[in-house]
Amino acid sequence: KLSKRLQRIADYITPNSRIADIGSDHALLPVYLLQSGRCPSAIAGELNDGPYQAARRQASDANVTDRLQVRQGNGLSVLNAGEADTVTIAGMGGSLIREILEAGHAAGKLEGVKELVLQPNVGEDAVRLWLREKGWYLAAEAILEEDGKIYEVLHAKLTPEAESLNKKLYDGSFLPVPREQSIKEVLLIRMGPHLLREPNETLIEKWKLEISKLERICRQLDGSDLPESAAKRNQFLNQIQFIQEVLQCLQ
Ligand code: SAM
Repeated sequence: KLSKRLQRIADYITPNSRIADIGSDHALLPVYLLQSGRCPSAIAGELNDGPYQAARRQASDANVTDRLQVRQGNGLSVLNAGEADTVTIAGMGGSLIREILEAGHAAGKLEGVKELVLQPNVGEDAVRLWLREKGWYLAAEAILEEDGKIYEVLHAKLTPEAESLNKKLYDGSFLPVPREQSIKEVLLIRMGPHLLREPNETLIEKWKLEISKLERICRQLDGSDLPESAAKRNQFLNQIQFIQEVLQCLQ
């Protein structure tokens, strides 16, 4: 049985797609997708030796070596253009996911890929920005809690209407906070345009925790004499205020 987090990722994947799971570790996700019949074939990419060996063992223990290729390498370099319909990247920071996507995109590795399912552990905004810049439509998002951690899962699709769909998605008019459109857009990119439209308890919890973290940093900056500390503190106080405004309108 998959964890709730990996199951959420699996459920977003369009049935019958050939998948490439980058940073696969034990290859739990691709093995599940093959065994459940959701996907006909899979590639598991791993940079590091330990996880690469673990993925190979898992493929052989699960008897799926005919349909699961385990490849060692950095990010999307393990993939050839046209080999996968769906790429999944999960359990890394958002900036690393963005770097992997950017390098893969520049090398033509995403050719033929129609769907991305991404689960950044932090820095979701870096991923949302990259998707929008590169013309991927953010079709859905989920936020969930498991073992005391909060995870976000982003589901993006390549469609000719991506630009106009994203334009509507990132139009913050629906957010009743007294801020100009450009600030609302920043908030949507940071907090999730779908998540904010259908907020749940976990979303609210996540951002309450983020406020506490920012408040802690502000208190630390209070005790500092460095000239740049005051400016930083103001920046964080502003952020706290924006997030609080959004939380108030969600609750
Ligand atoms: N995707 C699995 C999951 O979500 O449960 C495993 C996540 S694990 C925390 C992150 C994995 O990414 C590690 O096994 C690590 O070796 C691998 N990794 C990190 N950087 C990578 C890169 N540039 N290319 C491929 N794999 C990478």
